[in-house]
Amino acid sequence: MALKNKGLLVVLSGPSGCGKDTVLAELKKRDINLIQSISVTTRDMRDGEVDGKDYYFTDVPTFEKNIEEGYFLEYVKYGENYYGTPKKKVEDLIDEGSNVFLKIEVEGAGNIRKVFPEVVSVFIVPPSMEELANRLKGRGTETEESFNRRFNIARNELLRASEYDYIVINDSVSECADRICAILNAESSRYIRMKTLVDNMNRILKPKGK
Ligand code: 5GP
Repeated sequence: MALKNKGLLVVLSGPSGCGKDTVLAELKKRDINLIQSISVTTRDMRDGEVDGKDYYFTDVPTFEKNIEEGYFLEYVKYGENYYGTPKKKVEDLIDEGSNVFLKIEVEGAGNIRKVFPEVVSVFIVPPSMEELANRLKGRGTETEESFNRRFNIARNELLRASEYDYIVINDSVSECADRICAILNAESSRYIRMKTLVDNMNRILKPKGK
C-alpha cells in the first residue's frame, strides 16, 4: 500500500507590493497540489474582491469572539484591522496530503513558527525598493496616506527577512514560481518528512527473527 505523506504548510510573506498575489496565481497553475488558505479579516472589502474567495470578511466583535474560541492558528492586528488563519481547515488539508499556503505578514509568520515548527517559510522580495514603490503606486487602490503607511510597514518587514527559511526575488513571476516549486520539491523529500516511509521499508526488509 502506498503511503500518503502529510502536506506541507508553507508561509509566503513579503512586503505589500512585492507581487505575492501574482506569484501565488502562477503557482496555482502548476501541478503542485497547492491550496491557499482563506483568511478571515475585519478590513473593508476592496473593489473586485469576493467574500469567501479573497477573504472571509467579518466584523470586530465576531473576530474577537473567534479568538476566544481558539478558532485561529494565528492572528494579528495589522494597521487598523484584524487578520487570522482558520486552524481546523488548515490542519485537515495538511492531514489529507495537500500543500497549504498561507499568504500572511511577518508577525503572523513568527507566531506560526511557534505552534507549527515544521512550517516552510518563504519571503518574497522585490528586485529593488524603487520597484516596490512603483508597484505600490501602480496598484491604484491606495490613498497617499495609505501608501506611506504601507511603504513604511514594507521597509520594516524587509528587515525581518532573516527570520525566513528561504528568500526569493520576484524579478520575473515565472522564475520566482519556479524557485518556489524547487523549494517545495526539496522540502517534501527531507528525511524527517519521509521517515514513516523509510521506517516502514526497514521493517519489511529486516531479516525475520531479528
Ligand atoms: P491586505 O489588506 O493587503 O489584503 O493584507 C495585508 C497584509 O495582511 C498582507 O501582508 C497579507 O499577507 C496579510 N494577511 C492576510 N491574511 C492574513 C492572516 O490570516 N494572518 C496574518 N498574520 N496576515 C495576513
